[in-house]
Amino acid sequence: MKSWIEVSERRLTENYRTTLAVAQQESSQDTALLAVIKANAYGHGAVICAPVLARAGAAWLGVTDAAEGTAVRSALTEAGIELQPRILVMCGCLPEDAAAIVRHGLTPVVWQQEQIQALAIVASRETIAVHLEIDTGMSRQGVQIAELQLLLNLLAATPQLRLDGVMTHFASAEVAGSEQTALQRKQFEAALQTVAAEGFTPAWIHVGNTSAVDNGADGGTLTWLARLAESFGARPMARAGLGLYGYSLPLQGLVASDGQSTARLQPAINPVMTWKTRIVSLSEFEAGARIGYGGTFVAEHRMRLALLPVGYADGLRRELSSSSGDVGGWVMIAGKRALIVGRVSMNLITVDVTDLPDLAVGDEVVVLGEGSTAEDHAALAGTISYEILCGMRTPVVLV
Ligand SMILES: *Cc1c(COP(=O)(O)O)cnc(C)c1O
Repeated sequence: MKSWIEVSERRLTENYRTTLAVAQQESSQDTALLAVIKANAYGHGAVICAPVLARAGAAWLGVTDAAEGTAVRSALTEAGIELQPRILVMCGCLPEDAAAIVRHGLTPVVWQQEQIQALAIVASRETIAVHLEIDTGMSRQGVQIAELQLLLNLLAATPQLRLDGVMTHFASAEVAGSEQTALQRKQFEAALQTVAAEGFTPAWIHVGNTSAVDNGADGGTLTWLARLAESFGARPMARAGLGLYGYSLPLQGLVASDGQSTARLQPAINPVMTWKTRIVSLSEFEAGARIGYGGTFVAEHRMRLALLPVGYADGLRRELSSSSGDVGGWVMIAGKRALIVGRVSMNLITVDVTDLPDLAVGDEVVVLGEGSTAEDHAALAGTISYEILCGMRTPVVLV
């Protein structure tokens, strides 16, 4: 294999347990944790991570769509998981997905009439549990407050569907004291009152993401959630993705008097992914050699370069390219940095190993992992670690 991603089973398990423990510390022992494995588990392989998370105790998994949910369901069965987690289809279902949702026992997030009608048609015998998403101010998905009553009327008239959960999503969970979050909370409370007034008794109420767990000092989103769920006789649940993979967003406006971050989760989690490759060839070039496409990098002295079989086709960002006078990204070889020299190609990069004398063809290289993290790549690419991780197009092995 020219390059591969190693996913640490131990770290994924530990991160899940740590995230759950932090979420429960902030709220109550009753709080559950939905493990988000959408987008192919943020590049970590959904069908590989799902059984690990199920064994770690996850009672809920969150996937992108019905296709991903179907693949995850099969993987759980193949792995011999007896008590199967429930699988929430988070990013919307189309009418044509309804049959697969029922067949594979997936739980869809719904918020519009078409979804409810399509599910009712296929749910001839057993009732289908659905989760209702409320748009409390992120304006992305979910039923708007003004349309909630109509949708509840439709749900009440559709006995084939059972309202099992109500959820919302915060737009600014990583910002301490965010006004938007405060407004969203109020809207969610009001929506739940409307739901209850119509006689619905959802079993689950859930919100949040990794930052909402990490951001414990922010008036306790999860403390608020636990109280809210209790007042409606439901179980509280936090949803987390990024933290399970060992990363988090920096919390904004949350620093203690000593200047340290007050993040609760970040200090206790560890990256799960290590992207590795092997040296394909080693070559020496004289001063003056132009390296890579466009000849953007000119050797100032004799250099020894290692050729690595990874590039932007595999998810290595092109912004990690370098030119003379402008340092780019790096890989780790034997625990030391080797700088990327010239442009990142489609399937290849060259790295400077002039100061690493004892290398041979076939030696292992860490492209992303300890010493060259998704955050390092994101900083160079002007993006967030999420986009780096889920942009990986490399086979995954569990280690
Ligand atoms: C992706 C997603 C999450 C998880 O967010 P992280 O920041 O990765 O923890 C939670 N809820 C919803 C609705 C999402 O789409």
